[in-house]
Amino acid sequence: MTALTAAQIVGLAAHYVPEAGCACSALKCAGWESLPATFDASLLRRVGQTNNRDPYDEPTLEEHHPQGTRYDAADAPIALGHFPYNRCEIWQCANCARPLLRYTEYGGYYVDQRIRELNAALVVDTAATLD
Ligand SMILES: [Zn+2]
Repeated sequence: MTALTAAQIVGLAAHYVPEAGCACSALKCAGWESLPATFDASLLRRVGQTNNRDPYDEPTLEEHHPQGTRYDAADAPIALGHFPYNRCEIWQCANCARPLLRYTEYGGYYVDQRIRELNAALVVDTAATLD
């Protein structure tokens, strides 16, 4: 799978025009949410990922909240170099091209598919300032 550059990621989101009544509107995920079991995930297609790091190099678990936001806030920055954006796949609605971020959260006793809408205005390329 190909990692998209920050500019490509912003471009995907910036060109999205919401389509009224699309089946993906069942996903309310301005901030991170669990992918609802009732949602038909086959409506989405994977278009890339946020990074191509060495798989043996564990990406940071640090989050980036300079404005005091929290992990699941609707206005939390999409900081590409920070958790969890440094391990996301990028998906789109196959019908309306709505861009979405997904990753799998591994808890002690559970695995949870998380999803968040990709809002161009919130993308911050913190990956460029790491390493
Ligand atoms: Zn859609």
